[in-house]
Amino acid sequence: MKKRIYYDYRLTVWPGAWFSRIPGDKSDCEDILEQIQRHVNGIKQVNIEFTTKDICEFCKSKWEQDENGQPVCCNKAVEEWDRLKSESIPSLKVSDTK
Ligand SMILES: [Zn+2]
Repeated sequence: MKKRIYYDYRLTVWPGAWFSRIPGDKSDCEDILEQIQRHVNGIKQVNIEFTTKDICEFCKSKWEQDENGQPVCCNKAVEEWDRLKSESIPSLKVSDTK
């Protein structure tokens, strides 16, 4: 029979609304980390952990692209992708001739 073993107990501290200027903001965590290190004895290690998410810098929606790597969310992202593509092609040609 499977038995689940619980170990490596640790704390995860989520900044509260009263603390946060922006919920989940990095600077809130840095402030709390500093306070923990100042006030709590016997701490081996305190880490700031985070989650990442790829979004479009223009429309802020989840980053999605088609099989060619072209973004699918908005025209501005497509324009940027076209611009970067056209810039990278001549530079590739330059490095090819070396
Ligand atoms: Zn977009």
